[in-house]
Parts: sequence; structure tokens; C-alpha cells
Amino acid sequence: MADVTLEALLQEGRTFPPSEDFARGALLRDGRLYDVAAGDPEAFWATQAGELLDWSEPWHTVLEWELPFAKWFLGGRLNASYNCVDRHVAAGHGAQVALLWEGEPGDARQITYAQLLDDVSRCANALKALGVRKGDRVAIYLGMVPELPVAMLACARLGAAHSVVFGGFTSDSLRDRINDAECKVLITGDGAWRRGNIVPLKEIADAAMTETPSIERCLVLRRTAQADVAMQDGRDFWWHDLVDAQAPECPPEPMDAEDLLFILYTSGTTGKPKGIMHTTGGYLTQVAFTHKYVFDLKPETDVFWCTADCGWVTGHSYIVYGPLANRATSVMYEGTPDYPDKERFWSIVEKYKVTTLYTAPTAIRTFMKWGTQYSDAHDLSSLRLLGSVGEPINPEAWVWYWKNIGGGNCPVVDTWWQTETGAIMISPLPGTTVAKPGSATFPLPGIGSDIVNDEGVPVPIPGGGYLVLTQPWPSMLRGIWGDPDRYRDTYWSRFEGRYFAGDGAKRDDEGYFWLLGRVDDIMLVAGHNISTTEVESALVSHPAVAEAAVVGRTDAMTGQAVSAFVILRSGNEPTDALVTELRDHVAHHIGPIAKPKTILFAEDLPKTRSGKIMRRLLRNVAEDETLGDTTTLADPSVVEGIKARYLSTSPDDEG
Ligand code: ATP
Ligand code: MG
Repeated sequence: MADVTLEALLQEGRTFPPSEDFARGALLRDGRLYDVAAGDPEAFWATQAGELLDWSEPWHTVLEWELPFAKWFLGGRLNASYNCVDRHVAAGHGAQVALLWEGEPGDARQITYAQLLDDVSRCANALKALGVRKGDRVAIYLGMVPELPVAMLACARLGAAHSVVFGGFTSDSLRDRINDAECKVLITGDGAWRRGNIVPLKEIADAAMTETPSIERCLVLRRTAQADVAMQDGRDFWWHDLVDAQAPECPPEPMDAEDLLFILYTSGTTGKPKGIMHTTGGYLTQVAFTHKYVFDLKPETDVFWCTADCGWVTGHSYIVYGPLANRATSVMYEGTPDYPDKERFWSIVEKYKVTTLYTAPTAIRTFMKWGTQYSDAHDLSSLRLLGSVGEPINPEAWVWYWKNIGGGNCPVVDTWWQTETGAIMISPLPGTTVAKPGSATFPLPGIGSDIVNDEGVPVPIPGGGYLVLTQPWPSMLRGIWGDPDRYRDTYWSRFEGRYFAGDGAKRDDEGYFWLLGRVDDIMLVAGHNISTTEVESALVSHPAVAEAAVVGRTDAMTGQAVSAFVILRSGNEPTDALVTELRDHVAHHIGPIAKPKTILFAEDLPKTRSGKIMRRLLRNVAEDETLGDTTTLADPSVVEGIKARYLSTSPDDEG
């Protein structure tokens, strides 16, 4: 489909109801659940907890809310690994595939629920042998191999909290996270595959472990089989020696609903990462609920693929806990979208007949930049539902995804949530919600959300301001590890009695929620608040543009001026004429006030390792300041390159 047509679709303000076919087969075909939940949210969540999970001991109280501290399902006992594995095997589904694993240098493995039970039990026994006890913390630093979810579930089985650290982090980042949580054991590998190269995980872990006094033992998985992996006697143990020798039975520890399940550090888009704590009963309830209904899961027939890394919350909730609790069959992929070629994702969809794909705007914009020839070369007709998470999805990218990947037949669910929320909070329900490209639509049943102004007063519809959550939800964070004050300050002090998400949002005249970007990023130009997301989406709606980031920089005339960094789709030239055209394009779509004062063409944008644009660093560039904390950047050279080019071009050549 030509881009002109895409733009026409957007300009119509076209809405996208689910197809009749999809709606007819959907788990939820109307909005009744919203009313049920609104009537009595606690009773609603209690029903979900009872229906979706197995408890060894029932709860006596659904919710205890001492602002800002919530406890859900008090007195209830359950084990997360039992709920994700054992009970499915006990119910006769041991032969169903849990993980369809696609490895990097052409490896592939299929792991059934029965096999997963053996693997998790053996790993749990090995951790026990290494001294791990209920209440301990275990750090996990691995690539995307099946042993990563196995290790997470093994910790959950024993009642030890895991802290997964993304396998692309440096030794300093790993060290800091281990020390913050005082982890007792580190699980890592000899190496991880990355675009045909080996990331020497153990070497990096060794560097970290010179300064992690709490680590007593290290369990090492052989993945890449390099020749020289240093093993420290008494501290380091090979997985294949220790785990494989264990018995495949290990009784799951009955955990209190409020026992810590894991700590996970946020992506660090806005600053120093926070060690977010999630507990067992409420977290598992909401990830199972959202995975089932947002993705309309049919465990018998669906093949679910969430392309995130287990090092991020999306991987925790929608590769591990949600899908496994719901007995899904999932694809797990070790590599990147561009290796060995740009068709990789689409050949995986075709190979495994993926029905449900959950990915991020950063990936979708990359696919837009590359062009449609790669997806066109594959049969994607197995897909029936598409999801997006991580950043606001530009309307152009939404329609591109819907049309070129979904073939115009698949609902797209744009899901807003955070590490802190644990599970999806704002999203369409695909069988009933009429979608609008770029809008995450409505809070899910059982979720209370509002948009308020500076004083905390709800903004009437239509209107914009700060996104807040107005009532506790089961998978909410229980705090920041070791820092209750920061917990209170960050989330609960800005607006009394409400959770401040840190994101701006607006509601249109039909009450649809539109996420507008980080509050810290919002620009103030000549007295007008301008959202980064809206200017970026206007730029991306131009046929030459694949991706854009905008920031405000100090301006003598207007207080702040809009500075844009633009990546072109392949086949377009970065000319002065295009700069003028893009500025006019933004003026036409939003208004002259939003017109970027400067536009710099770039090859790439500074992103976190989870793929989010880090605007604060671009702001540093635009303001000619020294760069702030860059430790969570995927590739520090990108921002250095942009800085050099920015300084060599005159930023004030446009009026
Ligand atoms: P840090 O809190 O350390 O700065 P982070 O906020 O990037 O890092 P995450 O918890 O991974 O860490 O990301 C949550 C944020 O991602 C949200 O607050 C929001 O800004 C953004 N986000 C996620 N999904 C969406 C979405 N569907 N639409 C708009 N924004 C989204
Ligand atoms: Mg955040």
C-alpha cells in the first residue's frame, strides 16, 4: 500500500473496530466487564485471582490499603512456579509445548510443560545446593536462552527473589544492581550470542564480582562453548555439572501472596534506575488476567510471541509469568531483528505460525525505515492480533503495522504500562474496543485512571495533563528496594492520594487516552505546552521520515524552541528543501507554534538498551551541555556522533 494512502487513512481520523470475524471468536465481545469491575473493583480482582490461579491457602482479605502501601490477597498462599508449570502438567497438558525457542546460530529447541517442570525442579535443587533459601536474592545475567525463564521459575519455586539484569549491560551496571539488592548467587553463562558475535558474559560477571561482597556462588551455563572460561574454585559451578545431576523433583514452597517474587530495575530512560519490587499473588493475578484478555489467548491454538528481552518487565510479565500461568505456547527468540538478515522476524512468524505478536514501536519504526520488501517476502497469514509496548506508537507506525504486518485483518493493541505497574493498565480489549491509531484507548477493567492538571484537579474531557492512577491495582509495585522514601516521593507526593506515572496524556472528546510522552520532556514554547509525541508523530507522518525525536531548547524569543532529530526512510536524501518541507508539514498538522526551529538529520537516535529514545541526552546536545548519565544507553557512540554534527551545523539558521 502506498504511503499516500496511509496518510489519507490517518487524516480521515479513521477508527478501527475489530473485524466481525475476530469479534465473533473473541473471549470478550462486549464491554460488560468494565461495568462489573467498576461496580466493585476488589470483588472483580478477587474473582480473577480465584479463576486464573491455584492457591494452596485462600486469602481472608482482598485488599489492605494504607496509602501508599497496598497488600493484596492477605493470608493467601500460592507458588508462582507451581502456577506456571506443575498444575498444567497435573491437568494432563505435559506434552504441550511451553517454549518454542529460536536460537542465534540456527539452534532451535521445543520445551514442553513436562520438560519445563523437570528443568525448573533440577535448577531449584541446584540453587538449594548452592545455599539459596527462601527470602534470598539471586541475580540472573544471561542472554535469551530457555535457562533464563527456568532460572527465574526455580527461584520462585524456592521463594528466593530474582533480579534479572539484561545481558547487554556492562560489568559496572551488573555490579551496582547486585550490590543494591545484596544478591547471594549469580547465574550467568560463558557467553551470549549477539549478531554472530559472542558477548563474554562470564568475563563481564567476573569483573563485576570483584566488587560484589554478597555473592557467594556463581552458576555458569555453557552456551557458546568458548575455550577459555575462568572458573573460580569453590565459587563457580557449571550448570551442566550441577543442575543436570539433580533430581527432577523439588516441592514448591508455599509463599505468602505478599512475599517478594522479584526485583527489577527500570530501564533508566529518565535517570538512575529504580529497583522495583513485585510480590507474588497480586502480580500473578494481573499478568495472567491481562495476558488472557488483552491478547485474547486461546491456549489450544495460539502461538504467542513477545519480542522483548527477559531483562525488562515486558519479558517478565509477557514471556514468563503471564503466558506460562495461562498455559500458552510461546516463541522465545535469542537474537535481534536484523541478524542474519532483515527478514528474521518474518521468517520466525512464518516458521512457527505465530498468531499473536507483541513488539515495540522502536522495532516497528525500524521496519518502516527498511521498507516492506522484507515482510512481503513471508507468509504472515497466521497472525491474528498485534500488540505494541514501550513508547507511544506514532499513528503512522500503528497503521503501517496494521497494514503491512497484520494484512489489515488484525486488531492492534497499544498497551500502556510500566515496570512499576507490573502489568498492562491502559489498552484496548481487542474483541470489543474500536481502536484509534496512536491511542492506548481506555484503562482496563479494574483500573482507575485519570488526567489531572498542575493542582491535581481532574481535567475535563477533552483535555490534557498528567496521567495518574486513582486506586490500587493487584500488580502495583510494593516499593523501591531499600528506599521507601524514594517510593513515596517519586510516585505518591506529586498528587495527594494518587499514583503519578510521570507521563503526560490527554483525552479526546470520546474519552480515549492518548499518551503524550514524559512529563519531563514536555516543551513550553511561547507559553504553550507542546508534547514531544505529537510533534514526533507529525514528523513521522511525512513519507520521508521513519523516526523522529524532539526536545525543547532554550530560546531567547520563545522561552523554548523545538529541536528535531530525524531519521529518514531508505531512499530519501537529507536536503535543505526537505528541512523546509518538514517544518511546514508540522505547522500544517499541529500549528505554526510547534514548527521545529532546527531539524538535524541523523543516522540513529540515542536509545536505552530496551530501545526507548533518551530525549534528555538530546536536550543536553541541543543546549550544548555535557551529557548526563549514559550508562543505560545501548550505544554511547550514537549520541557522541549527533553531538559532533550538531555543533558543526548552525542551529539558528531557520527563523
Ligand atoms: P526509568 O523509569 O528508569 O526512567 P522507563 O520509564 O523507561 O525508565 P519502563 O518501566 O521500562 O522504564 O518504561 C515505562 C514507560 O514507558 C512509561 O512510563 C511510558 O513513558 C513508556 N510507555 C510504555 N508503554 C507505552 C505506551 N504504550 N504508550 C506510551 N508510552 C509507553
Ligand atoms: Mg519510568
